[in-house]
Amino acid sequence: MTPRVRFAPSPTGYLHVGGARTALFNWLYARRHGGTFVLRIEDTDVQRSSWEMVSGILDGLKWLGVDWDEGPEVGGPHAPYFQSERLDRHRAAARDLLARGLAFEDEGAIRFKVPPGQTTFTDSVHGPIAFENEHIEPFVILRSDGNPTYHLSVVVDDIDMRISHVIRGDDHISNTPKHVLLFTALGATPPTFAHVPLIMGADKKRLSKRHGATSVLEYQKLGYLPEALFNFLALLGWGTGSDQELFTPAALIERFTLDGISGGNAVFNVEKLDWFNHQYLLQLGDDALIARLQPKLKEAGYWRDALFGADRDWFVGVLALLRPRARRLTEYIEQLQPFFVAPSSYDADGVRKHLSADGMRAHVEALRDLYAASPWEAATLERDLRALAEARGIKAAALIHATRLALTGRMVSPGLFEMLVLMGRTETVKRIETLARELGA
Ligand code: GLU
Repeated sequence: MTPRVRFAPSPTGYLHVGGARTALFNWLYARRHGGTFVLRIEDTDVQRSSWEMVSGILDGLKWLGVDWDEGPEVGGPHAPYFQSERLDRHRAAARDLLARGLAFEDEGAIRFKVPPGQTTFTDSVHGPIAFENEHIEPFVILRSDGNPTYHLSVVVDDIDMRISHVIRGDDHISNTPKHVLLFTALGATPPTFAHVPLIMGADKKRLSKRHGATSVLEYQKLGYLPEALFNFLALLGWGTGSDQELFTPAALIERFTLDGISGGNAVFNVEKLDWFNHQYLLQLGDDALIARLQPKLKEAGYWRDALFGADRDWFVGVLALLRPRARRLTEYIEQLQPFFVAPSSYDADGVRKHLSADGMRAHVEALRDLYAASPWEAATLERDLRALAEARGIKAAALIHATRLALTGRMVSPGLFEMLVLMGRTETVKRIETLARELGA
């Protein structure tokens, strides 16, 4: 029998990276074994659930490349896949347990009668786990308002949907004995459980907004590539035992096993994610990179169709200059700015440090005159600048800093002379002239 797994998010929030990783592990397991990945929306908390959250979760999964075989939008033989549309099934199960003496009424609610003894299960990540039933209270399965509790609905739905493996967060371990008891009472064999350790921030506390972005779609906005986040999340608490870090989805599918999931908590290291993202950005060909940048260039107001046409070669040259340093799409946009607009102000520290010396205006004007005539080639531009500095008895660095401020308004930029070549003589001379006018005599 091929496995059937599910990701069962409650749409009371956005898709958290921890949830996305749980979904990813389920997906990898299903794909590895030719099984079925079910997406079930656990929206029984109507007050806190919203359609906006549901579509955010679906969008997040789609963006990441995690597709589902049964669930919202695609349907399937066990529909409906929204838990709120399955309440009749949950209520019928509660009545059945009541009728068979396995549950009892208590002030309008129905509680499960916990039998004496021990409840055990073998967790694929943590190994054998045993709970003494005397520590499990007779828990509510149907509230007095007629609504099922999480324990009842999750078990009834997992039975109905023929779920064979429940892969979910560690925070559910303490719920699992209740679920095992309910599966058994409802005449079903409990599925295999695999509880995935939680994701922690660098301070070893549960990952939260305090640590930075936690929503998958926020990472999209921050300029991460879905394939990089996918690869990064897959290796967060799961490993192949080798040093290899870059894996295509197909290579991950080939290697994925539940016992490769580590029992210890995984730390979310943004530096590492940036490294993955940089690697994936470097793998993109020029046109692919331009296509990925296009929406963000449009947002910034820099896009023009010629970037894919007459200006493509120029733009590819600009991107080549940025590739070694830009680790996110948003860093490209930031570093591209000077290529699209002249600086509207100059870094105040830079002005104080590099432009306040006496005679700076005359030096900058001399550079402007020089560059109005120099052959437009990186090595020459550098040699000419250095010769000018020497002739005027100042350090070359002074003119380099001034030129960088003139061109970008900033203190850091990609290689200055390569940049000048790409900016062109007219724009370079104009920006140096603008800076000169700002300087006192
Ligand atoms: N809706 C539950 C949650 O979001 C699902 C738990 C489970 O996978 O059983 O935590």
